[in-house]
Amino acid sequence: GADAALYKAKAEGRNTYYYYSDQLTAQARQRLVLEGRLRNAVKTGQLHCYYQPQLEVATGRIIGAELLLRWRDPELGFVSPEIFIPLAESSGLIHALGIQVLQQACVQGKAWLDEGLPAISLAVNVSAHQFSRGELGQQVRTLLAETGFPAKFLELEVTESALMQDEDKVIETMQQLRATGVRLAIDDFGTGYSSLAYLQRLPLDILKVDRRFICNMTTNPDNQQITKAIIELGHTLRFEVLAEGVETAEQLAMLQQMSCNYYQGYYFSKPVPAETFRQLLAQQQGVGVRAH
Ligand code: C2E
Ligand code: MG
Ligand code: MG
Ligand code: MG
Repeated sequence: GADAALYKAKAEGRNTYYYYSDQLTAQARQRLVLEGRLRNAVKTGQLHCYYQPQLEVATGRIIGAELLLRWRDPELGFVSPEIFIPLAESSGLIHALGIQVLQQACVQGKAWLDEGLPAISLAVNVSAHQFSRGELGQQVRTLLAETGFPAKFLELEVTESALMQDEDKVIETMQQLRATGVRLAIDDFGTGYSSLAYLQRLPLDILKVDRRFICNMTTNPDNQQITKAIIELGHTLRFEVLAEGVETAEQLAMLQQMSCNYYQGYYFSKPVPAETFRQLLAQQQGVGVRAH
């Protein structure tokens, strides 16, 4: 009886072990397949940048756009950046990919300027891996020189959590970029753990309030007060403040009362292809011309 039970437990243990082992292998295999497809997509330029308008709260004018990567695999369909960006980071592909996005921003931005469209800033997300490698300052300088896109119209977004790694190195890279003339934004602010002392040391221009505070600010008094406090903190540190993820007129009205400088979100527009964004910009110019 006891022996049989022991034998059974061992067998089950072994089965369990094999079961997990099989699952891990399947997961690892799937990851490898996805990584291979991503590698190929990066190599053959299958990833595209969408543009999400950024607007001035007080005037409603488009003052910029954030570039957001979109990947449509022929077999898998759309893969979210929440999936492929971490994969690009762990596989090292983020460096090649990151350069492509920066280049696209400079080339596209220059083309729109040359076309006579209103001057706007283009914001590019930069991952911690790109930041800590120490080559970003030089790469950006080279791209700006090659494309002729003025540095003051390029903005780099770094998440608060990315800034928490290797603080001295981060500040050094930021100072290099700042010296080039590009603007720096702290992304997803309020979700990391940066101290006020550290924040004060960072050469930042823009603070982006994370979407999770904005999404229920009109119904949740805590989030409303937190948003207000973040905006005031940003202004105290002499940063401009942008609210992410604005979806309703009520949220926008509240942000206006709080003197938030800029916003982006589905309320005005989802991220759109370059040509659609160009049309939005051209329309705005039309309105401006008529108003004079
Ligand atoms: P993020 O930089 O914080 O970008 C904002 C995300 O919020 C985007 O998701 C955008 O589509 C979404 N969003 C904008 N407005 C609204 C809204 O009103 N409501 C809601 N629910 N969502 C809104 P997306 O495009 O899926 O990108 C997710 C994240 O992937 C980005 O977060 C960014 O961290 C990363 N990512 C995207 N493109 C790049 C890239 O080129 N390089 C790097 N390193 N990361 C990127
Ligand atoms: Mg961003
Ligand atoms: Mg964000
Ligand atoms: Mg984010």
